[in-house]
Amino acid sequence: MKGETVRLVLLGPPGAGKGTQAARLARRYGIPHVATGDIFRENVREETDLGRTAAEYMDRGDLVPDEIVIEMVTARLAEDDAAEGFLLDGFPRTVGQAEALESTLAERGTPLDGVLSFAVTDEEIHRRLAGRRDEEGRSDDTDEAIEQRLNEYRDKTQPLERFYEERGLLREIDAVGDVDEVFGRATGVVGDLAGSRT
Ligand code: AMP
Repeated sequence: MKGETVRLVLLGPPGAGKGTQAARLARRYGIPHVATGDIFRENVREETDLGRTAAEYMDRGDLVPDEIVIEMVTARLAEDDAAEGFLLDGFPRTVGQAEALESTLAERGTPLDGVLSFAVTDEEIHRRLAGRRDEEGRSDDTDEAIEQRLNEYRDKTQPLERFYEERGLLREIDAVGDVDEVFGRATGVVGDLAGSRT
């Protein structure tokens, strides 16, 4: 895999442990980890216009409007380091975002290799999010915002499983287990994806 390009999307509900796996996978394959939530939080910290706009939505647990996110990600993927592949974490989150990504990548002639969908039970999600709230103190980890993020996920993001399934890109990963175990499953899947590429 090393030295090859790989273009991946990570999908999964809040609290699925996606961010941790994304960081490790990006390091393993030497590709940029593009996490839209992290980019927004950085903008909030730096008090940019984008940060101010995004914070209104984030604090409620709502999704930031598509046009804002799409513009931000399109610009990020146009940077030099993303020419060698990338791992998208937290994007796309709506069918509109997925369609925009698909057409941007089609124009570049660099389609996705696969979409890793991290699966956990609802019970496990609640347990993990409550733990993270206590540890990290994120402003969008209040009970109301957590509930709203899960609603947004079910309504707007879950349909992406079908979207990518129809394109033959979806690979489900059991995200229950310790970090190394889940990482092992994920790298196994990425290896298969790369192996099946012609
Ligand atoms: P995350 O760190 O991925 O859980 O994202 C935190 C928050 O940032 C989300 O609850 C949204 O408000 C916003 N956000 C991140 N990525 C997106 C996206 N692709 N579309 C819309 N909103 C997003």
